[in-house]
Amino acid sequence: MSQKRYDVAVLGSGIAGSTLAAILGRQGFRVLLLEKGTHPRFAVGEAMQPQSSMLMWILGERFDVPEIQNISSTERILEHVTKNCGVKKTFGFLYHEEGQRQDPAKAHLLIPPATPLVSESHLFRQDIDHYLVKAAIKYGADYRDKTDVQDFTINEDGVVLHTTAGEELHARFLVDGSGHKSVVANKLGLRQAVPDLRTQSRTIFTHMTGFKRYDDTLPPNERPGLSRGWYEGTLHHMIDGGWFWVIRFDNVPGSESDITSIGLTLDMRKYPPRMDVTPQQEFYEIVERYPSIAKHLEGGVAVRPWVGTGRLQFSATDSAGPRCFLMSHAHGFIDALYSRGMINTFEQIHALAPRLMQALRDDDFSPARFEYPRQLQAAMIKDNDRMVFNSFRGFGDFDAWNAWLRLWLVNIIFGDLRMFRVCLKYLETGDKAEFESLDRDPLPLSTLPGESPMEDLYAFGDKTFDRWEAGEISAQEAAAAIFEKLGQMPLPPIHDWSDPAACHLDFLPEKLVQMVGWGKTVAPPSLSRMFDFDPSVLGKLAPPPVAVPELALADDVALDRVHASTPLPSTFPLQKDRALPVQLSEAAALRFDPPTPDWLQAPETSKEVPLAKGFPAQGLPPVRRTPASVTPKT
Ligand SMILES: Cc1cc2nc3c(=O)[nH]c(=O)nc-3n(C[C@H](O)[C@H](O)[C@H](O)COP(=O)(O)OP(=O)(O)OC[C@H]3O[C@@H](n4cnc5c(N)ncnc54)[C@H](O)[C@@H]3O)c2cc1C
Repeated sequence: MSQKRYDVAVLGSGIAGSTLAAILGRQGFRVLLLEKGTHPRFAVGEAMQPQSSMLMWILGERFDVPEIQNISSTERILEHVTKNCGVKKTFGFLYHEEGQRQDPAKAHLLIPPATPLVSESHLFRQDIDHYLVKAAIKYGADYRDKTDVQDFTINEDGVVLHTTAGEELHARFLVDGSGHKSVVANKLGLRQAVPDLRTQSRTIFTHMTGFKRYDDTLPPNERPGLSRGWYEGTLHHMIDGGWFWVIRFDNVPGSESDITSIGLTLDMRKYPPRMDVTPQQEFYEIVERYPSIAKHLEGGVAVRPWVGTGRLQFSATDSAGPRCFLMSHAHGFIDALYSRGMINTFEQIHALAPRLMQALRDDDFSPARFEYPRQLQAAMIKDNDRMVFNSFRGFGDFDAWNAWLRLWLVNIIFGDLRMFRVCLKYLETGDKAEFESLDRDPLPLSTLPGESPMEDLYAFGDKTFDRWEAGEISAQEAAAAIFEKLGQMPLPPIHDWSDPAACHLDFLPEKLVQMVGWGKTVAPPSLSRMFDFDPSVLGKLAPPPVAVPELALADDVALDRVHASTPLPSTFPLQKDRALPVQLSEAAALRFDPPTPDWLQAPETSKEVPLAKGFPAQGLPPVRRTPASVTPKT
């Protein structure tokens, strides 16, 4: 029995748990990082977004953990972390119709602006997560793998964790980063049996090698001819009822990988779970119906087992309990579409970490102290749900999808700007307090009509799609209404927002200058307040070292801090070999339940969103209700 008492026990050493453990350790707290499995291990969540990279940059800067910042740029990953990652310089969305070649007029290639601050990558998560665990160890966290915590008790002065090996571990506070099977959510009854969410999707995925770049399957006159190609980022193939992701790890000079992550996510309203085929068979059945996707994936060979999941969505009634808190992926999840998972994860860590450190110093863990991160998590989930659910609705008709994607684009531009502004204000002043302002922004879905043009635009799109789904208007009328609304909005003059044919956006540097100029002069006050930064400070990168304020630590908080320049522990070398166990690892099996008979019965009692006019179910073979089995191996 261990008598050591930690300040914080972090359950789960995924990207969330190890990032938080590194931050807390760096700031002088005694951290216990517990992992049921071992590293390196397979994990999904590979595509970044400008917001996830900026949040990593911010976390690294604010809490003096350069290892976290190393993930915020492809160059830094390749230099310091692993050569197995790819680059994400584009978001590509190709709309496909059954039995037909992809129509180049139904495609969107969106190229975010390049800045010297951060860049986005395709993360080979087994290496990234492992690297962050090593960072946590370096900053003093006690890391224990193969330690399965299935129960805990909370008493007046702390938390006692009970491992399945019969051991008791003691901490003042517990943070649960163990994902959707969260021990805390289950024990405290926070997990919603039927999530109060509209999206209903499931997914099939693997890692592959051996197929072409999409660009190479096209005749030259069908390439958009922008500053970047489809292969240079995350490519999405959209179909009625689902979407594929294509995340290459081999698409940047310096990468030594030959692997691509491939997945297909299906709207369960159109594609109910099937027990009569393997995930691989179902995947290829669908691929074969879309000639351009089939051509793209021709020659592809899976290098790890196929995984098929049940419903992806889950949520919790709360993120906090007495002396404990759920990290984002333990609280809830919607869908991989638009790569929101890591944004939610890092935004939540950014909101939680300073409050937790203050609570530890004051030895006061009252729930009121965690009110903001609690609300943030609930709001992010609802907001993501609205975004993804409407996207699935839009996939049923290109015009509708074309319109909805513009709303996402507006949302992402202003979401990115929110982070960018804070980073630039910090570079200008050198004051880390600038980062705190991120926690003062209104939460998603919290504004009243008229207060936030972006929220109003979204709410309008959502209601318009409701009317479409109810059969009151056609898809074309819904799309026209959204484009008309976009034309009325005060949006930056970097794109023809009301033109359905203006699909691509190449956000060249001059457009960034144009947008900032617009923001500082013409934009209405509700938006111009986001442009109160000096863009010339980007030239200051890297910022001069900022003095770290002395921490007023509680008596029982460790004072010895590790210097950032200390090398990472070498006891856990990164595994260069991509060939992790070629069978579904225990960790993956834990996270991805195959569809079970239990699940199949769930819709009868769930708040399932019914299919309405314009959303015909596909003619699929009947579902055979066979006993649950582990996802078959290839
Ligand atoms: C199919 C899919 C695709 C996704 N794609 C993207 C994407 O492209 N971009 C993006 O930003 N996000 C994506 N996400 C979301 C992303 O995967 C998550 O946000 C992120 O992985 C969460 O990391 P985590 O550390 O919280 O959880 P995890 O990575 O799940 O780590 C949890 C850890 O806890 C351990 N554990 C579990 N139970 C216990 C226990 N009892 N005791 C101790 N340890 C335990 C596990 O072994 C594991 O190591 C995707 C998610 C899914 C499901």
